Order: sequence, then structure tokens, then C-alpha cells
Amino acid sequence: MTDRLNSWVSSANSAETEFPLNNLPYGVFSSVDRSCHCGVAIGDQILDVTTVADAFDIPANVFASGAWNDFMELGPKTWESFRAALMDRLAEGTDARLELEPHLVAQAEVQLHMPFTVTEFTDFYSGRHHATNVGTMFRGAGNALPPNWLHIPIGYNGRASSIVVSGTDVQRPMGQLKGPNDVLPYFGPSARFDFELELGAIVGTPSNGPISVDQADANIFGYVLLNDWSARDIQAWEYQPLGPFQAKATATTISPWIVTTAALAPFRVHAPERKFELLDHIKDSGPMLFDIALEVDLTTATGKQATISRTNYREMYYSSAQQLAHHTSCGCPMRTGDLLGSGTISGPDKGSHGSMLELSWGGKEPLSLGHGIFRSFIEDGDTISMRGHAIGSGYLIGFGHCAGTILSAQALGFARGIHKGKSRFHLD
Ligand code: MN
Repeated sequence: MTDRLNSWVSSANSAETEFPLNNLPYGVFSSVDRSCHCGVAIGDQILDVTTVADAFDIPANVFASGAWNDFMELGPKTWESFRAALMDRLAEGTDARLELEPHLVAQAEVQLHMPFTVTEFTDFYSGRHHATNVGTMFRGAGNALPPNWLHIPIGYNGRASSIVVSGTDVQRPMGQLKGPNDVLPYFGPSARFDFELELGAIVGTPSNGPISVDQADANIFGYVLLNDWSARDIQAWEYQPLGPFQAKATATTISPWIVTTAALAPFRVHAPERKFELLDHIKDSGPMLFDIALEVDLTTATGKQATISRTNYREMYYSSAQQLAHHTSCGCPMRTGDLLGSGTISGPDKGSHGSMLELSWGGKEPLSLGHGIFRSFIEDGDTISMRGHAIGSGYLIGFGHCAGTILSAQALGFARGIHKGKSRFHLD
């Protein structure tokens, strides 16, 4: 495990910061005098790379769109040389300080936006504890995992249009519902609205045809925390036989900072033991999961807060590289900015489950938040906030928060505020 690397940005040299020199995640920010610039987090600052692109031999127009897609398209050699140059020039004792310091902006003074334009979104179901828990609830313990589950990473094609950055409010969805005692379906607000704790992998290098697991791993630019908001009651009525549709199309929240695959390299771990040998196109070829400690907080409208789950990304059965390789195996082209959700990350124990569905066992065992407050599912005014840390020797690799507050449902006028053109991906 590498040690913490120190920077001339002194706030980056603490064991508590999520953004030491070892991390250098990529985001998009605006401030009083800047609109949607690309930036790199370092300590409690952001290096504005839109204004300082020249110094890194990156053409200025690469950051002109206010998203990291054009940079991703430059390819892995540029990803590597840019990161090396950043590490070099932000390191303690370098002359580059004089040139770069004027381009630092305090994180406290900015608003963060979508770090990249999501071109496509696929969500998987690759957490074995989650799939077992959900299967046990719906089909019984003897029948929990579907017969295909231990052989392929199961997924569905989601909606890129509904992905929002942390801090965006989420309106409780309306939908067609039919409870076990209802004779006919009705239209109303979801009463079983839920979160799903996931990691999102971002495809940097496009592909057009089947690629190997190793190639898939190399094509992934970085990772974000991801909350796949899910309306369980809408899902239960609509999902057969084609899987989730409206239940997962309201919103999916991601954290604001793209943590690069390079920054996570010291934290690679092997997948768990396989019950069945995997077929060649998704066979394990190295450690492609990561040791990332994850936490979920629920804060009520009155400010009562509880940590409701603690788990780790290493619990997954399939890596993002295996998911991506499988995704391409039929010839499906992948684009720069494709986002792949890992699937809900649950650990084996009750306190490590990555959804309310599991934490309250389908609503049958309401979860205590302390203060005499219980939750079966998410209520209006609740904020769900996720954090993730790879824990190094004297440093953390963090993602920033992945948070969203639930607003009450509205049957009409349900709109997130569609602004002009591309800015709908941003909050301003
Ligand atoms: Mn999901």
C-alpha cells in the first residue's frame, strides 16, 4: 500500500481529507465568476483546469463543454500523462506552485455539477448478498438466486436522462400500483420508495464489438458513488416479464467527483470464490474489485441523522470490468460516458445492507433510527447520503457525498426544471 503523498496545498496533507494528492478526482464546478469549469479536487481546493489547460499541454477546447467527456476521448495515454503531471506539479516543494496557485478555488465557494455527460446507463444486479436477500423475500430461501445469476452479470438498460448530481432533490414518483389486496391497479404516489447503494463505472474508451475483461478494465476511466432510487411498489407490479422500467426512471444520483481507476489501483482486490467456473468471456483475469468502505446516512426533515448501513464494494460478485465485457459480448457498442451501475452493494449482515428493502426486510421489520424514529422506506423530507472511502496508509480516497432529499409527490407539473440545451445536466 502506498503512503500519503504530500502537496503544497496543505489541506491535502491530512489523514481525514477525501482529496489527498493520491486521489485527484475530476469534477465540474461553477462559482461567482466561473460557469461550469472542469476542476481537480485537492484538499479543500479545486484546481481550475479549464483556465490552466495550456500548462498541461491539453488543448483549451477539451474542457470547453464543461464536462470531462472530451478529455476521456483523448485516451488512456493522455489520462496517464495528465495525472502524472498533476501529481508532479501539485507535489510538495515544486516550482509549479507559482503558476498553479492562482488557479485554485476554495471548494466552499463553488457549486458542483454533473462531472460528465452520461451517454447511456446500464444497471446491474451483481451483489450476491443483495440478490439473495431480495430473492429470499420474493421467492423463498430455497429459490433465492435465479438460475442464471452465478453465470452472468444480470442487468437492464436504464435511462441516461434521469441521472442527476449529488444535491439534486428527488420528487417521489407517481406510478401505477396494485397491492396484494387490491382488485384493480390504481395511480398514486409510491409508498415504498427506496435507495440502492452502488458504485458507477464510467466508460472512457469506446468499443464497437466484443472486448476482453482486461480490455474492459483498461477502458474504464473512473468510478462514482451511485444511488439507484427505486420505487418498490411500482416495480413489483410492472416488472414481469421485462424487468424494471418506471420504478427506476425517476432519478439516479451520482457523486460529483470521478475517482480515476488509477487512483484506486492500490486498493484492487480479487472477486470472491466462484461457485461455478465463469465462461471465458467474463473469466477473472486479476483483481478488479476494490476495497472501498461505504456508508449510508439517513437524515430526517427535522435533522435527526443515523448511519443506516456500512458495507464494502469488495462484497460484489462481478466487477465492473466483467460487466462491461459481458455487455459488449453480443456486439453492443459502448460510448465514452457510458455509465454502468454495479448493482446494490450489500454485505452479509443486517447492518450492511444497501437498500431499505433489505434493512427493513420488505417493511416487516422497521429500522430504528434512534430518537424513537423508525423507517420501513424513505419518507418525504428524508435525505439519503452515501460516502465511500478507500483507506490507505495515512490517507483516504473519497468521492464526495452522493446525497438527495425526497420531495413529496406531485401528479401534475412533475418536472425537474428543463433548462436550455446541455445545461439540463447542471443545476444552474
Ligand atoms: Mn440498481
